[in-house]
Amino acid sequence: MTETPLSLPLDIDTVKGFLDPAEGRALHDAALAAAPLGPALEIGAYCGKSAVYIGTACRDAKTLLFSVDHHRGSEENQPGWEYHDPELWDPEAGALDTLPHLRRTLRRAGLEGTVVTVVGRSVELARAWGTRLGFLFIDGGHTMEAALGDYRGWIPHLMSGGTLAIHDVFPDPADGGRPPFEVYQRALASDLFEEIGAVKSLRLLRRL
Ligand code: SAH
Ligand code: MG
Repeated sequence: MTETPLSLPLDIDTVKGFLDPAEGRALHDAALAAAPLGPALEIGAYCGKSAVYIGTACRDAKTLLFSVDHHRGSEENQPGWEYHDPELWDPEAGALDTLPHLRRTLRRAGLEGTVVTVVGRSVELARAWGTRLGFLFIDGGHTMEAALGDYRGWIPHLMSGGTLAIHDVFPDPADGGRPPFEVYQRALASDLFEEIGAVKSLRLLRRL
């Protein structure tokens, strides 16, 4: 990883989200390296924090980032759960709505021409998807069903030589839920991937 400070198109601390700056930097650098292969896709946009890091790399490499989310939040974002943010609640819908926040982030970052917002459910979209990807970031639902569904659904779309990034990989269960860690282990055990980087709870794997 380079030591030069990363210049982002907005103050990233003003964007709500769950990404450590060191993880964001690693995502940016990995996305930039993979960009010549093909476009990037992320599962789990939320308010756009990771989209700013990956999207900045895609902008510079003149490729696209598809940013997928149903924008209704994961389990842990719902009312009464640990990561609920009342500011993201849409009272008319009676549901969370992070889409306006993502749009605002992308406009402020000048990334509307680079980050393509895809509103929908990950697994259903994966079945209809056709574009080969150079970079794939899995940061969606954390149930085993969601995490495994994202992995199984999207891996076929990742090119050989492309990079798979997985967030919230916690080897110690005391630090967080297990499904992303189990998916990470499954990827390594499959012989389809080799690990190329690890920063905090982020893991970077290359598709062989
Ligand atoms: N990458 C973001 C954080 C994502 S949080 C950041 O950097 O801040 C996880 C997101 O995954 C939530 O916004 C939730 O709505 C979304 N999500 C959960 N399950 C999903 C599914 N099945 N399909 C699409 N999006 C999903
Ligand atoms: Mg995460």
